[in-house]
Amino acid sequence: MTSSVDVERRSAFATATAESGKDWIPSLQDQVVRDYIIDAAGEQGLLLAEIIEESQPILGVDLVELVEDKPSNVRRSLYKLEEARVAQYATDTDKSGWETFTWTLSLNEVKFVINRERKALLEHLRNRLNFEELTTFFQCPEEHPRVDFETGTELGFRCPTCDLPMDNVDNTSDIERLKEQIAELEDVVF
Ligand SMILES: [Zn+2]
Repeated sequence: MTSSVDVERRSAFATATAESGKDWIPSLQDQVVRDYIIDAAGEQGLLLAEIIEESQPILGVDLVELVEDKPSNVRRSLYKLEEARVAQYATDTDKSGWETFTWTLSLNEVKFVINRERKALLEHLRNRLNFEELTTFFQCPEEHPRVDFETGTELGFRCPTCDLPMDNVDNTSDIERLKEQIAELEDVVF
């Protein structure tokens, strides 16, 4: 059985037409960058990125002091930023022999990560569009999950959930929405 395709799913990456292309210089003011950071490192990650931007280069110990949370949590958020290529650190040894971490933002890397994710989303949407265009769907009036023709035949065109007769579904608006999303993404990927 074909499960209902969630055509509403729409990544924030698809909407940021101003923040795009090879020449884009990502900044913390870009919504797509903020969404990306929150996704990768939470609200605390975004807060840390803002502090780093204001005061970079900044020592890890100073960052830990500036954020009201357990130091272990703050450090975890910092490493999540590093993993997501939002921030980077350099290590050194201070006078008393302690290893120090100095943090800076590295947002230019982020655009390549976001571009890769946009490309993957674009591929996914193109496959879905193809699937929607090639498939005839059937559905009951209660709008339980759609099925394709073959499954509909097996079910005698009665809904497996409510047993009401299933009818041909017009998916033109789904197809149009997918095409719009694809066009928006095609504008921004590089
Ligand atoms: Zn039904």
